[in-house]
Amino acid sequence: MQKHRIVTESASPAKGAPHPLHHAEFLSSVANDSQLPPPGPPEIAFAGRSNAGKSSAINTLANRSRLAFTSKMPGRTQQINFFRLRSGALLADLPGYGYAAVPRQLKEHWQRFLSHYLATRQSLVGLVLVVDARHGLSDPDRALLEGYVTSGRPMLLLATKMDKLASSAQRNAARALERDIAASFPHAVAQVTVVPFSATHRIGIEAAEVVLAQWVPAEIASGDPPFAPTKEEAPRPRGMARGPKYPR
Ligand code: GDP
Repeated sequence: MQKHRIVTESASPAKGAPHPLHHAEFLSSVANDSQLPPPGPPEIAFAGRSNAGKSSAINTLANRSRLAFTSKMPGRTQQINFFRLRSGALLADLPGYGYAAVPRQLKEHWQRFLSHYLATRQSLVGLVLVVDARHGLSDPDRALLEGYVTSGRPMLLLATKMDKLASSAQRNAARALERDIAASFPHAVAQVTVVPFSATHRIGIEAAEVVLAQWVPAEIASGDPPFAPTKEEAPRPRGMARGPKYPR
């Protein structure tokens, strides 16, 4: 069986690393299926339990202080925020889950919506799961992964807040996550890359960027138009023929 990997800073190039999330711009907020941008450009999704550090990770990787919103009311912001990357690819910031104070019905609704999105979104090319390295995978993390990994697409597991651990504990935490994935999702092991990360202490940024750059281009290759569609395009009504994969 192929082993999944823990990729540390030293394993990534010191210079010239791509920055696939730099120059991201807010595109739209989506509260239900019908509002999702028409599938087309490659899309990467960021998911994580409320307070895991997802917004901080996005902001750090995008090199912006307030691109993704850090919520004062964790778990209350129930929408997917879409950002357009410089290449035209999309970043979907999924709502944080698992916050105790959210009513059960709302939690279940979003758990279903997110599971459905991750399992069926045709333009999704990768999932970044942000996990607090001190706590490991939560039950809702596992529930989401179950649906996602069957698609065979790759996953970057950002084991964040590493700065809160001593260096030996950092290694142990990353290995514990690796073992957990291997035990819980043995068939998906090769899809997963674990990157020890800290937004505040800028650990793992290049390693994460190297993985993300395999999913979405860091730049538009010269001569290539950016991926489309634009936000002005109306969603395709049911029954209407699909356009080209990357409509221009
Ligand atoms: P989200 O709810 O998953 O989007 O989490 P946030 O990004 O809003 O972060 C939740 C809290 O954790 C905030 O107080 C952040 O400042 C803090 N935080 C996020 N990332 C890190 C990190 O890498 N290290 C430390 N020490 N704190 C972090």
